[in-house]
Amino acid sequence: MTTLSRRVFVLGSLGAAVLPRRPLPYPFSLGVASGDPAPDSVVLWTRLAPSPLADDGHGGMPAADVAVEWQVSRSASFARLVASGTAVARHASAHTVHVVAGGLAPDGEYYYRFRAQGSISPVGRTRTAPAAGRGGGDLLMLFASCANFEAGFFTAYRRMAEEHPDLILHLGDYIYEGGATPGHARMHLGPEVLTLAGYRRRYGQYKTDPDLQAAHASAPWLAVPDDHDVEDDYAGWHRLDDVPPLSAARWVTRRNAAYRAYREHLPLRPGVPLHRRVPWGRLATFHMLDTRQFRDPQACGGHWKVCPDADRPGRSLPGRAQERWLLDGLAQHRAVWDVIGQQVFFAWQVNASGAGNMDAWDGYRASRDRLQRGWVERGVRNPVVLTGDIHTAWANDLKADYTDPASATVGAELICTSITSRGDGTPVTEVPTADVNPHLRFYSDRRGYTRTRITRSELRADFRALDAVTVPGAPVRTVASFAVFDGHRGLVRL
Ligand code: FE
Ligand code: CA
Repeated sequence: MTTLSRRVFVLGSLGAAVLPRRPLPYPFSLGVASGDPAPDSVVLWTRLAPSPLADDGHGGMPAADVAVEWQVSRSASFARLVASGTAVARHASAHTVHVVAGGLAPDGEYYYRFRAQGSISPVGRTRTAPAAGRGGGDLLMLFASCANFEAGFFTAYRRMAEEHPDLILHLGDYIYEGGATPGHARMHLGPEVLTLAGYRRRYGQYKTDPDLQAAHASAPWLAVPDDHDVEDDYAGWHRLDDVPPLSAARWVTRRNAAYRAYREHLPLRPGVPLHRRVPWGRLATFHMLDTRQFRDPQACGGHWKVCPDADRPGRSLPGRAQERWLLDGLAQHRAVWDVIGQQVFFAWQVNASGAGNMDAWDGYRASRDRLQRGWVERGVRNPVVLTGDIHTAWANDLKADYTDPASATVGAELICTSITSRGDGTPVTEVPTADVNPHLRFYSDRRGYTRTRITRSELRADFRALDAVTVPGAPVRTVASFAVFDGHRGLVRL
């Protein structure tokens, strides 16, 4: 480590930087990423980590800040640069870099790369959003969630990159915090993650995956975390159970470490809350929700329950402030489509004994009703909810009154299945609870993602599925397609 740090290109060295005589180990082992596109800027990300699994969570980097050059071009050959600069990869941030590359043209495709310690990074492709009030072209947007490294290969991420999307939404469970489980094809590094170093190593392990790197390099992402990015089924500052046993102070430390590591490793705009609005011109507004940090504890102790307490009006899933923030944003009518990217099952769903999932919106029914009624009252033209978490694909009509199938359809929900969680799955496509939930229109137990093509007149969704994730390289196919037509709430099966 000492010899390494003396040879490193360290900021603040006198005069010319100390350049290495021999090449240093390749620092861009975790690839590149971009995210949170605006009409004139996009966030560029990388992390210097020549040894990404290093015990201390610092990726084999010395305790020094390091200069990283960045370049943006219209072409992958970088013949002409349209923006460039030097950022600092700070030791305190595990040598992650978040560059807000500004001065870009709206609705444009760009390529970017980094250089540090004598090495050049892989090239990423990204794009800016259309200008406010402008249409732009059709939008190819993919969304995904739940990539458990142990559950299989990240082939779905590879197939997403191959679609050449304009935008990717990631709706949480980017990592899983659990410990290594012997017997899996791929195993987590070490025990359940509780510390900052542990989360950084976990991100290091995930981000060495070439399929994940390809998905990041293919398009800008809008990412929001869910529970496993921190701890299974936690709510606000409340743990669902005391497993593993932690003092209150250690839980706070763990939670803070998890959010810090998430922010370090995803291409998020520095200083912007996780719930945020990303306008895509006149075509779409993306409202990204944070349904973990501010929620009330699960009713009746969580899990699937018949629980009258779930209906208490005081309960909220995103928190009352975020509910108001969402409704205020929906009231702006900035675009044809209002897309709500969020974590947990939104539609009403009961099982045969009448129980609902207390971790999902069914545990916070008044909160869901306030939002649905709120967008109806505000005349929101095309509300579409996108969801992760549940590890299966669904297409749901959202109803004014879920106990009355004849009541108005007030929106649509699309649920993306998982990248790997739940393993290979089955070919089953019968909705498990259709008899008691007639508004649930489609189900699939395969892994994959959802592909949407958004135009002025329709939002089309293709449920993309892989037959296997426990072996690498499975092809992807469409198992079902739905559309929402402008001004007509609810789903049409194609
Ligand atoms: Fe998950
Ligand atoms: Ca989850």
